[in-house]
Amino acid sequence: MVVGDVATGTELAVVGAGPGGYVAAIRAAQLGVDTTLIEKDELGGTCLNVGCIPSKALIHATNVGYEADTAEEMGIHADVKVDMEQMVDWKDGVVDQLTSGVEKLCKANGVNIVHGRAEFAGENRLRVAHGGEGQGSETIEFEQCVVATGSRPIEIPGFAYDDDPVLDSTQLLALEQVPRSLVVVGGGYIGMELSTILAKMGCDVTVVEMMDDILPGYEEDVKRVVRKRAEELGVDFYFGQAAKGWERADDAGIVVTTENEDGEESTFDAEKAFVAVGRQPVLDTLNLDAAGLEPNEQGRLETDHTGETNVDGIFAIGDVAPGPQLAHKASKEGQVVAEVVAGEPAAMDYQAVPAAVFTDPEIATVGLTQAEAEEEGFTPAVGKFPFSASGRALTTNDHEGFVRIVADGDSGFILGAQIVGPEASELIAELGLAVEMGATLEDIAATIHTHPTLSEGVMEAAEHALGHAIHTLNR
Ligand SMILES: Cc1cc2nc3c(=O)[nH]c(=O)nc-3n(C[C@H](O)[C@H](O)[C@H](O)COP(=O)(O)OP(=O)(O)OC[C@H]3O[C@@H](n4cnc5c(N)ncnc54)[C@H](O)[C@@H]3O)c2cc1C
Repeated sequence: MVVGDVATGTELAVVGAGPGGYVAAIRAAQLGVDTTLIEKDELGGTCLNVGCIPSKALIHATNVGYEADTAEEMGIHADVKVDMEQMVDWKDGVVDQLTSGVEKLCKANGVNIVHGRAEFAGENRLRVAHGGEGQGSETIEFEQCVVATGSRPIEIPGFAYDDDPVLDSTQLLALEQVPRSLVVVGGGYIGMELSTILAKMGCDVTVVEMMDDILPGYEEDVKRVVRKRAEELGVDFYFGQAAKGWERADDAGIVVTTENEDGEESTFDAEKAFVAVGRQPVLDTLNLDAAGLEPNEQGRLETDHTGETNVDGIFAIGDVAPGPQLAHKASKEGQVVAEVVAGEPAAMDYQAVPAAVFTDPEIATVGLTQAEAEEEGFTPAVGKFPFSASGRALTTNDHEGFVRIVADGDSGFILGAQIVGPEASELIAELGLAVEMGATLEDIAATIHTHPTLSEGVMEAAEHALGHAIHTLNR
């Protein structure tokens, strides 16, 4: 401790106010734990400020314009003009509303908010630098601590984000003008979501990807629907291409060089490059040694089923902990650790973590795929329903994709589902509940679904797995 620096004490210190940290802090405070939440930037973290919310706001706004512009078949002849500056202002307004909401909720629940950058100064001590001239620092002693410092975009050699034409997702989401053309390095979910909206805004998009397909981890028939649609929107894909470097071109553009496995080089011209090769946990600035913490090989903090690290009383949640880097996974972990800290018998259960990709159409999954179910020793019963057979999908002129349900062939218990198609991110909730509560195919088939809705497709897929679908052939 610095001489003259008096430490303040708290029962629980939460470092990072993203969807993991602020949820943990609110829940702990609700349970009567004296809680201090420390944040170096804006409350809400990546998700609210530069991730889920701004990207989905821009995706929605773009879709409104794009749908109006392409609805001639339905007799709508619109002359759409996009004011990008205004769209970005609107998106920023949504972000401001949500981040100020987080502050109000924290205060109303009695969470003590400290603004500054925290690092460990011992096993039960944090040093918080307030930043800015003359702002000083303080020491906070804690009984228990939650590390929720999230992640940042991975930078690849030769593509520093402080060089203007090279953008990370934060910079891309803040652009006030649509680039004429863009090389997207990486066809993961962030690369694909943002490629789709830029293509709809008239940008000429080229995706270069090191692997042999987009969206690693998703099944081929799911990806095919999204890739085909992206190609229809004008996105060009080049697979097996590792980005190597870039240089400025004469016409104020950029030339990106890639290399394939055989060492052959290719070049791609564009106005800007967007690098979306994944996100790495933010742990390097925390002085972990002082607390006896050490990241694993993936740069994350290993935790047990309660979220506790190898150091008693120190927990890790969200993007710094193992598992998918998703906001709702971070928030659920936040709730669990808060309850554990408060002495409640809570634990994490990862069997029903849904994931959504907000491309056109959307993808959403939960639980096991058919291949995973087989690997785990099940003999799965699989049912599928195409949106082309859905009355509701046809009335909205959006009928690409399908619902697939994977169940245990013996008991009928729902093991997982994959949806690609309109509103997939909403439809998956019913199947997440089914996995979580141990519902069966019969439960879903017996549930009367509103007509005409997309959710009828979930019922039809369950009926298909049982061999008695009405609106698709049972084979
Ligand atoms: C473009 C984009 C789109 C996304 N879309 C989705 C989506 O649709 N759905 C979804 O589920 N997920 C999405 N994500 C991922 C999601 O944003 C993250 O998984 C989620 O934000 C992780 O939450 P977290 O609480 O672990 O960390 P974060 O949200 O990253 O928050 C960590 C916080 O800790 C603070 N911090 C870091 N170090 C310190 C320190 N030393 N002292 C004090 N504070 C510190 C940071 O400033 C930050 O506010 C998206 C991400 C991006 C980039």
